[in-house]
Amino acid sequence: MERVIFLVDMNAFFIGCETVRDPSLKGVPAAVAGDPKNRSGIILAANYEARSFGVRTTMTIYEALRLCPSLRLVPPDHEYYEQVSNKVMNTLSSYTPVMEQNSIDEAWLDMTGCEPLFGKPLEAARKIMDDLYSNHGLMCSIGISENKFLAKMASDMKKPMGITEVWKSDIQHKLWPLPVSRMYGIGPQTTIKLNGLGIETIGQLAHFSVGLLVERFGKYGLEIHRLANGIDDSPVKPHGEDEIKSISRSTTLSEDTTDIEYAKRVLLSLADEVGMAARRHGKKGHTVQITIKYSDFKSITRQTKISPTCLTRDIYEAGRRLLETNWDIRLPVRLLGIGLSGFEEDEQISIFEDLAGHRDAREEILERTADRIRHKHGWSILKPASLLQKNDTDH
Ligand SMILES: [Mg+2]
Repeated sequence: MERVIFLVDMNAFFIGCETVRDPSLKGVPAAVAGDPKNRSGIILAANYEARSFGVRTTMTIYEALRLCPSLRLVPPDHEYYEQVSNKVMNTLSSYTPVMEQNSIDEAWLDMTGCEPLFGKPLEAARKIMDDLYSNHGLMCSIGISENKFLAKMASDMKKPMGITEVWKSDIQHKLWPLPVSRMYGIGPQTTIKLNGLGIETIGQLAHFSVGLLVERFGKYGLEIHRLANGIDDSPVKPHGEDEIKSISRSTTLSEDTTDIEYAKRVLLSLADEVGMAARRHGKKGHTVQITIKYSDFKSITRQTKISPTCLTRDIYEAGRRLLETNWDIRLPVRLLGIGLSGFEEDEQISIFEDLAGHRDAREEILERTADRIRHKHGWSILKPASLLQKNDTDH
């Protein structure tokens, strides 16, 4: 039986979430951006009003304000976006149990056989879009096709609040004229290489010699050739939380820095977000990895093994050691990241289990209690102690 796959993609998700809790942002140019007070941060998400002024994601705040001086800026609150995302995913999973979340703001739904319940694919998509708008106040775009790749490509074609069908029979007109850079799964590096082979459009990729692509790119060459021809047999895989492979956070610094003490404070704040997410998912990992990107955009990653943990303290300590070992005063740093992976199989953490003998049980209870307080009152109410220095004391 032919499948029916939807990709539901929330439009301008972060700023959409902000507008839900502060309706005064509605209808005026607004964007979520790295802390406008302390950092010459970047735009993380702009609403459509701001986009009409030319404001784009990853632009610096300085540039954005030059294009649109009345732009309202809101600092990011990832914990809140994750909460909203969870609610959205719950709503989506009420339409089909076969749902695969692809990122914080999008998911594939396998709607095969759902016609008796929700009508034709187009009608079903309209229902979902109305549901998200009226019950969550959020806009989305929906792509409809017979596989995940084409549904993803379709979802990108009409925004905001667009519904687009791209069936295999439509690819010649709807997919092939697009530049390869627009193809899902193809990054800037691959685009350059493909352009070097004379491949500019998805259609040209679809008709290019598979042999040459495999020679050049290995298995990935075969994969992108199949995708360009609209072929994608991969199933929509509902994933439980146990399938999370890693949790990581990174941030672009206000200014390039060579100050390791500042870098450590940033790392602590990121480690805290990672720890919080790990505890929420009930995951303990034994590998901590840091990413350092330098002002020349070169980056390094370094990792280390520790006893399985979900504690901010342990994650930070491991990250700090990696940072100190790899710190080079001559190279200004522009981005820092930290991640936890190597999760134990089926580890279910209960704060009631074996409290007496549990390593770090007390610390874990403390950090979990802190999580609950933050959940209720917002993240910034409890920051790790060494964050409360310098600029942060006035909060
Ligand atoms: Mg998206």
